[in-house]
Amino acid sequence: MKYIGAHVSAAGGVENAPLRAHEIGATAFALFTKNQRQWVAKPLTPKSIDLFKERCERYGYGPGQILPHDSYLINLGHPDIDKRQKSLDAFIDELQRCEQLGIDRLNFHPGSHLREISPEQCLDYIAESINFALEQTKDVIAVLENTAGQGSNLGYQHEQLAHIIDKVEDKSRIGVCLDTCHAYAGGYDLKNDYQGFMQDFIDVVGIEYLKGMHLNDSKATLGQRVDRHHSLGEGEIGWDCFKQIMQDERIDNIPMTLETIQPEIWPQEIAELKRLAGYID
Ligand SMILES: [Zn+2]
Ligand SMILES: [Zn+2]
Repeated sequence: MKYIGAHVSAAGGVENAPLRAHEIGATAFALFTKNQRQWVAKPLTPKSIDLFKERCERYGYGPGQILPHDSYLINLGHPDIDKRQKSLDAFIDELQRCEQLGIDRLNFHPGSHLREISPEQCLDYIAESINFALEQTKDVIAVLENTAGQGSNLGYQHEQLAHIIDKVEDKSRIGVCLDTCHAYAGGYDLKNDYQGFMQDFIDVVGIEYLKGMHLNDSKATLGQRVDRHHSLGEGEIGWDCFKQIMQDERIDNIPMTLETIQPEIWPQEIAELKRLAGYID
């Protein structure tokens, strides 16, 4: 089953996210469980947690259909030990929020070396941070997102994702979320060779680690290394790639969410993806 949705707003409380997802015809959704641009947030209230769970159940969103995104401030590979620790504390808080909400996975950008340390050292720090965080929480899977490789962001090559996974001790709690826009901007030609892209992911990382996808077209050109999302079919990638993804039998039962730039057309984008997957809505 292809679970298809979007990164919906959690304004007014996390309990509003499943409502908004349901309204746009989504069978999966992403959300921020706290303000993504702030370090600290108030704990989730029991009322908010109960309502979130109740609405997920009412609208049919199981754990494998929800993929929260962590704060943009977190850098688990920060060259400075104190700043890395601050990120680690915030990351653990994000994992705990997922636990409280009954969500089984958390999506995050691997980290940035800030041109102060080598990419390898940064990848090692990221893996070390993940190991610490997993030790202090239970159940939730840490899901690395591939990036566009903008600035000093790591995670734009499958080898970098594999490097981190290799050093994570509990392999049952590490995964990957593939963002199509990031992959394309990072240098993988999904437009002309989707099969080659997936095969490389399978060979280098392994399909068993695929725990989510972000479906975005790209304003950036192939390998431009900048992160600029576009609506499906309006960017450099085009609909044919998304059709191949919807018809790829290797990808099933994971949340696949839009982070496209016109939320007003999400219902149409979701409906078209469902149609391409062969579901009559
Ligand atoms: Zn992201
Ligand atoms: Zn993304």
